[in-house]
Amino acid sequence: MPPRAEDFASLYAAFDEPVVDGDCGLKCAPHNAYGVPFCCDTRHAVPTMYGEEWAFVVRHSEMWRPWLGPTDAETRRLWDETPRGQLPVMCQGLAACARERGFRSIVCRAFPFFPYLSREGEFLGLTYYWPYEDRCWVISHLDRVRPAFREAFVRTYERLFALYPHERETFRYHSIQMRRVFGRRHREIPLLHRDGGYYWVRPRDGRLRPARPEDFPKHGIYAVLAELPFPDEESDNAASSVHEP
Ligand code: SF4
Ligand code: SF4
Repeated sequence: MPPRAEDFASLYAAFDEPVVDGDCGLKCAPHNAYGVPFCCDTRHAVPTMYGEEWAFVVRHSEMWRPWLGPTDAETRRLWDETPRGQLPVMCQGLAACARERGFRSIVCRAFPFFPYLSREGEFLGLTYYWPYEDRCWVISHLDRVRPAFREAFVRTYERLFALYPHERETFRYHSIQMRRVFGRRHREIPLLHRDGGYYWVRPRDGRLRPARPEDFPKHGIYAVLAELPFPDEESDNAASSVHEP
């Protein structure tokens, strides 16, 4: 059956698990010059929605607008790059998000993760949008990702793949790209497997080997903070608080 706007009522209801315990936005926002979480700042990340998802949210909330860039050329570029059947969007900001949390997009709920697929197209689990390694606190703390989030993520993308079969190929391609990038960097890819385990993926042939989650590396400022004498205290007390444009 083709996807319908109202499918997103149940998709949203079933994918409402926080990524980690607590609010990871409190951890990253202090490191953004604009003082907001990086994934909520369209200077860093622009969410996209499926057309049916858009139809659902505009019917039930005031929270979203089609994305407009700082210039006409930038707006055109991002709209052109957005896959057919989807659109780039912008929300009304953190206050609106707090009021209408039930209408956060699938991409908001999934960030920073995307479904990792093997060369053969098997959906193995979660890995992350690697361009955000230096900014996203969660990527530097993969051991903190809640099992309930991982399970909800897998269930949600299984359902999305049933509704949008071409998305399987989109994310297979994305996984190929990540293997290429990490292969060039002589790095293995962290994988949160759908079986609940942690693995390293060898980019050359996609082979998995078990990982200890505490061995997944930290990046950017979070790597620096981890070297401080009291790293946990520093990050826990941090000030308040899928497209790269
Ligand atoms: S998912 Fe990453 S970028 Fe988004 S709020 Fe959490 S730590 Fe920040
Ligand atoms: S809807 Fe919420 S989570 Fe999504 S981008 Fe806006 S503020 Fe961030």
